[in-house]
Order: sequence, then structure tokens, then C-alpha cells
Amino acid sequence: MKNDCIFCAIAAGEIPSFKIYEDDLVLAYLDINPMSEGHALVIPKAHSQGLFDTPDEMLAALVQRVKAVAAHIVKTLGADGCNILQNNGEAAGQTVRHIHFHIIPRRAGDGLSFVSRKADMAALEKLAAKLKLA
Ligand code: AMP
Ligand code: ZN
Repeated sequence: MKNDCIFCAIAAGEIPSFKIYEDDLVLAYLDINPMSEGHALVIPKAHSQGLFDTPDEMLAALVQRVKAVAAHIVKTLGADGCNILQNNGEAAGQTVRHIHFHIIPRRAGDGLSFVSRKADMAALEKLAAKLKLA
């Protein structure tokens, strides 16, 4: 493994994977610890760690492939929807430091949930003002 990156090794074919899509830039394969049936990962073949060091053109290409692969998975498995997840940094739950998008197919009533709490609206308004980009 040339740079100790397991997803680079998968892209190079040095480690086996359950590929579902491949082109010159991108690879998609099934996650080996699926959150639901059909949970897949989409990665660029070129190494970058996460969202912030991946070139914009590559992100655009990746998201196009995520859309196509997710639509294909949902249709093929007869799922009712999907979550797209992309973790950046250990604190956010990123365990593999090669950017990847999770496609997590969902079925009505499957019980999978991302825990959330109802926010304080005033605090939310303040935060939105602070984070406003344009
Ligand atoms: P993250 O927590 O966002 O870094 O997700 C990394 C994901 O990669 C986890 O869901 C793992 O189950 C998955 N994973 C790790 N090794 C492999 C592998 N060799 N093939 C497929 N998926 C993998
Ligand atoms: Zn890599």
C-alpha cells in the first residue's frame, strides 16, 4: 500500500471491494459495515482527505456520481429514499481519511435515525446570521 490509505488501495485494486460503479475519476462500492441494505461509498480515485482539501471540480464530479449511483441503488432495491452522509475529521466520525460519500438507502419505518433535538429558535437565528456566507 503506497500511502497507507485503504481507499487508495481499493482504487488501485490492491484490496478487493464490492464495486458498483467505476469511471476514470470515481469509484463506488458497498460499505462492509452497512447501516442499511445497499449502503455504498463513493470516492475519488485520487487521494484527498476530506471536503476542504478536495478540488471543487472533483467535488462537482463526485456529487454527480453520488446522484446517479444513489438513484440507481434506490430504484434497484426499491428503497423509499436515502441519506447522503460525508464525515470530515475524527470528531465528526471520519474513520477513513480519504474523502467518501455514504449513500444509505432508507425504507419507510426502518427505524434508522440520526438523533436531533429541537433547537432554541433565538439561538438558531443568531447562529444563522453569524454563518451567513453571502
Ligand atoms: P467514515 O466513518 O465516514 O470514515 O466511514 C468509513 C466507512 O468505510 C465505514 O462505514 C466502514 O464500514 C467503511 N469501510 C472501511 N473499510 C472498508 C472496506 N475495505 N470496504 C468497504 N468499506 C469499508
Ligand atoms: Zn487515499
